[in-house]
Amino acid sequence: MTDKTHDPALRSWVESANLPGCDFPIQNLPLGVFRTAENPHPRIGVAIGEFVLEAGPWLSRNNLNGYMGLSSEQRRDLRQQISRALEQGATEQTLIPQTDCKMLHRTMIGDYTDFYASIHHATNVGRLFRPDNPLLPNYKHLPIAYHGRCSSIVVSETAIRRPVGQLGEGRFGPSVELDYEVEVGAFLGPGNQIGEPIPIGEAERHIAGVCLLNDWSARDIQRWEYQPLGPFLAKNFSTSISPWMITIEALEPFRALPPEHDMPVLPYLRSERREAFDITVEASLRTAKMAAPIRISRASFASLYWTLAQMVAHHTSNGCPVRPGDLIGSGTVSGPAKENRGCLLELTSNGREPLSLENGEQRKFLEDGDEVTLTAYCERQGFRRIGFGQCSGRILPAAG
Ligand code: MN
Repeated sequence: MTDKTHDPALRSWVESANLPGCDFPIQNLPLGVFRTAENPHPRIGVAIGEFVLEAGPWLSRNNLNGYMGLSSEQRRDLRQQISRALEQGATEQTLIPQTDCKMLHRTMIGDYTDFYASIHHATNVGRLFRPDNPLLPNYKHLPIAYHGRCSSIVVSETAIRRPVGQLGEGRFGPSVELDYEVEVGAFLGPGNQIGEPIPIGEAERHIAGVCLLNDWSARDIQRWEYQPLGPFLAKNFSTSISPWMITIEALEPFRALPPEHDMPVLPYLRSERREAFDITVEASLRTAKMAAPIRISRASFASLYWTLAQMVAHHTSNGCPVRPGDLIGSGTVSGPAKENRGCLLELTSNGREPLSLENGEQRKFLEDGDEVTLTAYCERQGFRRIGFGQCSGRILPAAG
């Protein structure tokens, strides 16, 4: 349910937060960890307009795990307090320009799981390998996932080193099919005890917030290694996340009904609620020869076949515990149209139809010097637009 913190008439004493099109109006209030040149101590901040407000009075730790351990009621109370402090008429406080802040990845992510929840992505990718039977028989019965790697999760703007690996029998070298995947990440908490599944009706209480996530993927390594246990070294060399966590409370006005399922799901995954979120996600590319990035895809997170709540309910259905700070990835967010495809594997049909860029360059997969930037926002009539900020990474040549 929306409350006063979502009221589009609410204005802040931070003037830049009231400008139309701003990513961080007072209705958003995302959390991140930062430091500055003057004070190198990592601390939690709230993004507001073009500034950051130190969250010290409410959140004094130097990572977000404590926040993620809060109950959903505590999180809602905290949002109301921060909103009141930034509302027009409240006492003005010292702010730090975002341009002076170095954003840090300071969440201790205990476990990371990547799903495959876009039926459009699964169908497009499946069709490349199995034209007659793109979707595997389990797809409409459970949210497919694999366990990922936390040690290589990096914050936006960290450079990405092209991985080296096995590309086929007797072949070892730099990947020549390096790709990105546009995803939404969700930070979990407070979580469950081992052996105690989280029911679908309570699953959302265990999602603290969302971010942008780029699941960098080496398709040539992936193709050779993935059977029968799934992706391994093709994915775990780097995963980028955006620095600002958009709280689940901020997304409240942007709820949507998930797409209809033509196959009934089992009761533990069944929900009639508006548990999808209408988040528009975009990817842009800037090659070393370009002055400015160009957008190469746009899709809606609401088109995913499985919701975040269903992912959490499924993940814990066997009693697997999730803990504050755990991260799940949605899987590549793609839609039905060609411009909705959230990775180059889909956009170029596995390199068969290269992307023609406006400056005359072509791309089958990423080249050294290419920079991929993901952005996202929520827009709905009658509410303030909220933005996610950015998740970017530039490709460095392979080592050695
Ligand atoms: Mn992925």
